[in-house]
Amino acid sequence: MEILIDVHNHTIASGHAYSTIQEIAAEASRKGLKYVGITDHGPKMIKGPHIYHIRNQRIIPRIINGVEILKGVESNILNQEGKLDVPDEVLEELDIVLAGLHDVCIEPWDVEGNTKALLKVMENENVDIISHPGNPKFPIDKEKFVLKAKETNTLVEINDSSFRTSREGSKENCRDIALLCKKHRVPVIVNSDSHISFDVGRVDKAINLLKDIEMPEELIINACIDRFENHFRDKRKSRFI
Ligand SMILES: [Zn+2]
Ligand SMILES: [Zn+2]
Repeated sequence: MEILIDVHNHTIASGHAYSTIQEIAAEASRKGLKYVGITDHGPKMIKGPHIYHIRNQRIIPRIINGVEILKGVESNILNQEGKLDVPDEVLEELDIVLAGLHDVCIEPWDVEGNTKALLKVMENENVDIISHPGNPKFPIDKEKFVLKAKETNTLVEINDSSFRTSREGSKENCRDIALLCKKHRVPVIVNSDSHISFDVGRVDKAINLLKDIEMPEELIINACIDRFENHFRDKRKSRFI
């Protein structure tokens, strides 16, 4: 299985990442990727970018070094009602929108509260992907989460950095979530969540976990370019229509 799409990457604009868009595109090109997503954190992250920075991505070329650049954001979930730190009118203009729970932005709630926040955010049709839902700092009702992803056509991320450098203790949760996705036929997306260009396209640990549970390949949305494009076309994302 070859993954030629990695839609979750951070640039220096995130405040705690170390590469530029050009460096990310160069690495993506070197690795033969077809799509690379630029998804800096939303403004509530410590030293995160201003909303103008997120919106101004329209000036970034569509193709750099032969790699198509998807302009996006990893927005922060701010409350249990699913409020995000990027307004809908900005999210609407982007190619890819991730939403995630980050403990530097909010205090974790209990299982019920964390689950409610994710379910609410998935009702926002601008949200494409829930980033790292297996984070043990934000325990959730995994089955409710997966069923809501199915109902709302939201992608469940299997985040490779959760098995390397971030969110220690994620593996069991991610495995459970992936098994539930398999059971309920809910698509997942594997992403690097790179914070330095060397890690762009690095998803081997996420893929190993999916191989381990014998995840059907057709449920890995970015294992096939047509499947990935069709998914976003069906979501009426303007870039793919
Ligand atoms: Zn994140
Ligand atoms: Zn991230």
